[in-house]
Amino acid sequence: MNLQNITITLSETKKEKPQSDQLEFGKVFTDHMFIMDFSTGLGWHDPRIVPYQPITMDPASMIFHYGQSVFEGLKAYQTDDGRVLLFRPEKNFRRLNQSNDRLCIPELDEEFVLEALKKLIEVEREWIPSAEGTSLYIRPFIISTEPFLGVHPSSSYKFMIILSPVGSYYKEGIHPVKIAVESKYVRAVNGGTGTAKTGGNYAASLKAQEVSEKIGYSQVLWLDGVEKKYIEEVGSMNVFFKINGEVITPALNGSILEGVTRTSIIELLKHWNVPVTERKISMDDVRQAYLDGTLEEAFGTGTAAVISPIGEFFWNDEKLVINDGKTGELSKKLFDTLTGIQTGKLADPLGWVVEVSKENTFSVAR
Ligand SMILES: *Cc1c(COP(=O)(O)O)cnc(C)c1O
Repeated sequence: MNLQNITITLSETKKEKPQSDQLEFGKVFTDHMFIMDFSTGLGWHDPRIVPYQPITMDPASMIFHYGQSVFEGLKAYQTDDGRVLLFRPEKNFRRLNQSNDRLCIPELDEEFVLEALKKLIEVEREWIPSAEGTSLYIRPFIISTEPFLGVHPSSSYKFMIILSPVGSYYKEGIHPVKIAVESKYVRAVNGGTGTAKTGGNYAASLKAQEVSEKIGYSQVLWLDGVEKKYIEEVGSMNVFFKINGEVITPALNGSILEGVTRTSIIELLKHWNVPVTERKISMDDVRQAYLDGTLEEAFGTGTAAVISPIGEFFWNDEKLVINDGKTGELSKKLFDTLTGIQTGKLADPLGWVVEVSKENTFSVAR
């Protein structure tokens, strides 16, 4: 499949774009979307950019019953000199195919869908906000569409990409969050779907999130599903600790999602010669470091917030306050550096950003 096959149908009308200081996360969507269909026999076919609109689905579609679906999340940034940058997008499409494999969804051509995304972004270029901290959030996803109530992999799917202009995650600057350690519910187990980006993991996480919010904590820290001892993730982010000068993140263990931000932070710390280790780390280890006075910083990492400093853990009726509840020096430096690279304000020493080309070489069907 090559790019010339993508048909483009432009919208007759354009929506009003929100003010950049009023952007929220994932509430407003742009004028167009990308769709491609899969059916057994035809494979992935009919790639197209069309006006953003509802889709009609058979109520028996398998997605509604058994949740066979996957998604991704990444961002496009507008630079001060008007260029459009993506941050390591090939990693998102690589991971999408890994999620596909786990969910028995047919593989996509990663290069083709990245080119399709760039094309969609070119069409929606005016939607990319440029104010400090804003970006265009990109949500690629796949749903199973076969109308059948039997439990087996669907014979048909839709791959879609929708776009949403989003505001700064930190309206009053980067600030720490309070986290409740979850000892009852688990997010994922080894052998389950924790390493895949699939909606079911999020559905399974809602209950713990709701309970923690009721007691005044914004996210939960997930422990391993077997011993409930070892740290896995925080909310829907990966998690890092700085203990006695060493940066530690839980090693990938078959239930942790491998974040692009996580990988980038490990690579950046190595580039800076800061000691960084991927290993098993228990909540007891963290509490001991807290008691010893060596727990210097903790932070979550993910595309939405980039770095989310942690000011307090609540565990077994005990409050572990980190760095006086203030953002740590390393957390701030990582946030400034990553966002600086993503928005083209800082040099990109590890070759991470991908520029969306400006040429328009495609025919437009109306
Ligand atoms: C998406 C996600 C992350 C973060 O991944 P990034 O690629 O860094 O955005 C971490 N944990 C979970 C469970 C996720 O779904």
